[in-house]
Amino acid sequence: MALEGRRLRRQSAIAAGAALIGLSAYFVGAQSSTVDSAVNAAFTKYQGLQDGKNADYIPALAKVDPKLFGIVIVTPDGKVHTAGDVNTQVSIQSISKVFTMARVIQDQGPDSIEKRIGVDATGMRFNSIASIEMIQKGGGGGEMNPLVNPGAITATSMVQGNTPDDVWNKIVGTYSDFAGRRLTVLQDVYKSESETNDRNKASGMLMKAYGYIKSDPMQAVDLYTRQCSVGVNAKDLAMMAATLAFGGRNPATGKQAINPENVPYVLAVMATAGLYDDSGKWLYHTGLPGKSGVGGGIIAISPGKFGIAVVSPPLDDAGNSVRAQRAIRDINQALGGNPYAVKARATTTNNNQ
Ligand code: GLN
Repeated sequence: MALEGRRLRRQSAIAAGAALIGLSAYFVGAQSSTVDSAVNAAFTKYQGLQDGKNADYIPALAKVDPKLFGIVIVTPDGKVHTAGDVNTQVSIQSISKVFTMARVIQDQGPDSIEKRIGVDATGMRFNSIASIEMIQKGGGGGEMNPLVNPGAITATSMVQGNTPDDVWNKIVGTYSDFAGRRLTVLQDVYKSESETNDRNKASGMLMKAYGYIKSDPMQAVDLYTRQCSVGVNAKDLAMMAATLAFGGRNPATGKQAINPENVPYVLAVMATAGLYDDSGKWLYHTGLPGKSGVGGGIIAISPGKFGIAVVSPPLDDAGNSVRAQRAIRDINQALGGNPYAVKARATTTNNNQ
């Protein structure tokens, strides 16, 4: 009897294992052509779409070719599927905020971000000064997160190092681990944004005045401006997204950028606030944690299934790339990437009994 039980348990364990392998093999292998066709279909469909407008409050961004359009998706086997221009670099802009937050969570734990900044949507624009005033209401119980400018500048101020260069090396080193190659600053963007970032300076000052930033706020704003000016192409962004999709480990280099247990915290804030005040709308249609930047990039993550990135500079009113949103929505739909969409299970019990 005992022997029989053990054999049965072993058999069902083998069956479960085989089902699991079968499932991931299905996504990794058999679907490779499906992934390619989904990517190509979205590229063809939206290539001619001209809605939206480049960001111009940072003068260098207005000069980027609005026709630039590239799509990259990375699947669990590390395979990179592409369409369009995936090599031209744009500035990472707000997508950087995800990876600075990841650095702080990795070094100081998830509580550090929740307590110092908060993890709730502001419901306001990404550079809202009013949102800073609102967090003062009710003694600091307001809404803020590390993916809008005031919270992001605060997160940058939390990265530890003996000198600004130390801090910078940590930040750019983290981004590079996620991307799988050494990333550098686009100097023209850094210069242009440094000359026009008065609003971010005001945000930094206020966050200091209210005790969120504890060090020199102008140093934090400068490092934040530098991090936003880091150059990335669609492939880099997709690899960064894939690293988050697959337990914090870069699928190309095998390097563990952050511990797997920290990834869910990063994804949760992305789901809450990754597309600013359109985050709810985005989640409603995709179910995916995502992050946009005013450089025209958007990344999105289907945990365990894929990391995807699209670059296309023209933005909608909320500051999110028009074509990137559309393309990711279609591809996600075609590949069944929405983690909330689960097929009903067949049941063996008769509910009428
Ligand atoms: N560097 C930009 C800013 O601070 C980033 C904003 C964004 O991408 N939404 O305004």
